[in-house]
Amino acid sequence: MTGWISTVSIFRDTLFSGKVALITGGATGIGRGIAEALARHGADLALLSRKADNLASTAAEIEATTGRRCLALPADVRNPEAVDSAVARTITELGRLDLLVNNAAGNFPCASEDLSPNGFGAVIDIDAKGTWHASRSVFRGWMKEHGGQILNISATLHYGGTPGQLHVAAAKAAVDAMTRTLAVEWGPLGVRVNAIAPGPIGDTEGARRLFPGPLADRLRALIPTRRLGSIDDIVNLALFVLSEAASNLNGTILVSDGGLCLAGRFPLEPESRPGV
Ligand code: NAP
Repeated sequence: MTGWISTVSIFRDTLFSGKVALITGGATGIGRGIAEALARHGADLALLSRKADNLASTAAEIEATTGRRCLALPADVRNPEAVDSAVARTITELGRLDLLVNNAAGNFPCASEDLSPNGFGAVIDIDAKGTWHASRSVFRGWMKEHGGQILNISATLHYGGTPGQLHVAAAKAAVDAMTRTLAVEWGPLGVRVNAIAPGPIGDTEGARRLFPGPLADRLRALIPTRRLGSIDDIVNLALFVLSEAASNLNGTILVSDGGLCLAGRFPLEPESRPGV
């Protein structure tokens, strides 16, 4: 659960009324935060990820707290047919599909020399190919005729060299490339494609795993704003990018990291990182 529930939104609560959003990886972390916020601002939702129980309970909670519809669609983004079915079900049951948030991803720290071909391939398949499968499916199924918006959740760790993150860096570089290419190809058809590149987001499991205990303090000291990002930081940016206020943004990758990737040394020394 994000802090969203207890805070007052700067956006009007009908911002996404009449819209339908599909969020991959929408049952946990950043994806859940974005899903919940879109519903609080009027959108009906479809959440897609693998763990059916997790999806069902999250969807039920979002429906109960927001009064919006929220479909739970168990599927693996690596499987294009499963993604096509989930997209078709969203359109059949909710009537349209205006917004896609490609948020599903896998990550584990691993030194490149120890990274197996399977491990490398799994992250490429989820982050990069999964983003393509969902984008392709919503474009062909709805957005090509009706327009819409795609928001990819990228990262900053491929801007430099991040030890232990070869697989993720390669996958997120592909996500950035797709963001720019699809923005140009699909822009004329009324489809905007943008990305948000979060730095370390302190209230996610991933950041807690990658930066345990004192490592988080050392990381904080490297960030110009002297704080880790929060899920709400990404949620607020996502609401802006998906809103009409950002209608001239297309193919843009918005970094939200407190200036960390401009500031010099990131990540921390390889020898101090878990698994590296
Ligand atoms: P998270 O909680 O682990 O969320 C990842 C989601 O993706 C999970 O809900 C997972 O659900 C889903 N998923 C994984 N593999 C999938 C598959 N094959 N098919 C469908 N769904 C799949 O991660 P997070 O920290 O919130 O990260 C969200 C996004 O932000 C990711 O794109 C990540 O790269 C990016 N990001 C995060 C940080 C950070 O500090 N946390 C920093 C930079 C970028 P299932 O396991 O049930 O499938």
